[in-house]
Amino acid sequence: MPSTMMDLPLNVNALLRHGRTVHHDGLVLTYHGPGDIREATFAEVANQADRLAGALHRLGIQSGDRVGTFMWNHDAHMAAYLAIPCMGAVLHTLNIRLFPEQLAYVINHAADRVILVDGSIAPLLAKVRDQLTTVEHIVVRGAGDTSGLGHTLDYDELINAEETGFDYPEPDERSAAAMCYTSGTTGNPKGVAYSHRSTFLHSIATHSAQTLQFSQKERVLLIVPQFHANAWGMPYGAWSVGTDLVMPQQFLQAGPLAEVIKETRPTISGAVPTVLNDILHNAPDADLSSLRYIVCGGSAVPRALIEGYRSNFDVDIVQAWGMTETSPLAAVGWPPRGVAREDDIDVRVKTGRIVAGTEVRICNDAGSPLPWDGQAQGEIEIRGPWITGSYHLDPTEEKFHDGWLRTGDVGSIDTDGFIQISDRAKDVIKSGGEWISSVDLENVLMGHEAIKEAAVVAVPDDRWDERPLACVVLQEGADQPSTEALNDYLTGRVAKWWIPERWTFIEEVPKTSVGKFDKKVLRRQHADGELVVVARDS
Ligand code: ADP
Repeated sequence: MPSTMMDLPLNVNALLRHGRTVHHDGLVLTYHGPGDIREATFAEVANQADRLAGALHRLGIQSGDRVGTFMWNHDAHMAAYLAIPCMGAVLHTLNIRLFPEQLAYVINHAADRVILVDGSIAPLLAKVRDQLTTVEHIVVRGAGDTSGLGHTLDYDELINAEETGFDYPEPDERSAAAMCYTSGTTGNPKGVAYSHRSTFLHSIATHSAQTLQFSQKERVLLIVPQFHANAWGMPYGAWSVGTDLVMPQQFLQAGPLAEVIKETRPTISGAVPTVLNDILHNAPDADLSSLRYIVCGGSAVPRALIEGYRSNFDVDIVQAWGMTETSPLAAVGWPPRGVAREDDIDVRVKTGRIVAGTEVRICNDAGSPLPWDGQAQGEIEIRGPWITGSYHLDPTEEKFHDGWLRTGDVGSIDTDGFIQISDRAKDVIKSGGEWISSVDLENVLMGHEAIKEAAVVAVPDDRWDERPLACVVLQEGADQPSTEALNDYLTGRVAKWWIPERWTFIEEVPKTSVGKFDKKVLRRQHADGELVVVARDS
């Protein structure tokens, strides 16, 4: 029997119309440096989007064309988030921290025709300008050194010449609205094209009390960059329900962030563990009292960080899991009913609980699903309307299994649908045929008072095939503990056979373009003999 419901497209245009009218007084606050916070209402940002759509149209952008953004988080980037998909084009957020060869690769692979760039980072784009084969126009916003970019257009001049009230088309809900490349920890980055429909559904999902709890009462500080998996879907989620957005631009260090929080008093924030760790250690006196919670993910969130925020700032951290391919919300770890706040850290250290709208399972090496008993470990697979079903012009059949995306993450699921990731498949340490979770070891090590960061990687071992090498960064001013003392510390906290024999003390853990521990670099440094390894007698 056919349904009798209206078949209107689920597109970003519907979100734009809703945000600009119903939530016209929502605010986008952009931080420009000490004491300089500029406000734009949602109605003003929507008008700016209209003008931008007009300017891009005049430059020849048509339905389906890709428009890149090479920008920090700010109001103009939000306007681009709205204008580009709503005019039927595809927003391609470029990661400003990619290595030049990867940046050139993703721009050419996506065939971007126009790029909007912040003047302050124009030199980063200039490095690859002569390798770009499809870019016709570079539009520069704000002051900066644009030499090396060739002919450029001025953003303000372009949009000031346009009127508000652009005549938007009504894009098909299955057409691409935006795209984002994975950070390419192995091989070339892969392109994920989000549809209007997936963006619409994911945005509505952010309003749930089980996910980000966005509502018109909230104000979110967007620390996670708009070029990283669409800032975890927060800009569209916030826009569609009137949550104020606070945009810190390039001011992402502990001190400026503390000031932004004090001045704008956000109720929610989202960031990767490295940034939160930086605030905890370098701005311990910050006033975070406005924050109801901080959503943290992108890599495992150490217990010490969750406890540190609770005891030092009285702020709750909620862990989430997802990836570029999952839009990215897939699991969010709100403690279930019946768990009191004073007892909830054991829940918060879990990776997260499966979000409604997605389905998750774990499979063994033979591809058979495993039970949800909190014990069985397998590769996590996921499917749902905001999970990618293929990569842009990149046939990678091995990433899919019977219509499920293979995430490359290994973990367990418990009877309540809480996921616990133990590792990325490529980071697992196989010692004597048994798995050691590098993530668990890192978490425990980062609970040691002298340790600021710890990354554990597999290194070859004659007897056990692989053993863990613990790469440790000490807290400022801390004395280096002996390997015996570290052994004693780990005893009882992890299985005895997990305890590393090999240790190295380093200045900093190398990070990827999105701020994650870059274990590939550590493994290479170890193979090249660049790390001074202290061995404990085993
Ligand atoms: P990339 O895959 O290019 O590193 P993503 O930002 O898409 O970029 O990263 C997704 C990956 O990050 C996940 O597959 C997972 O390995 C890791 N990750 C994200 N959130 C968590 C979490 N809460 N705990 C452990 N790992 C996480």
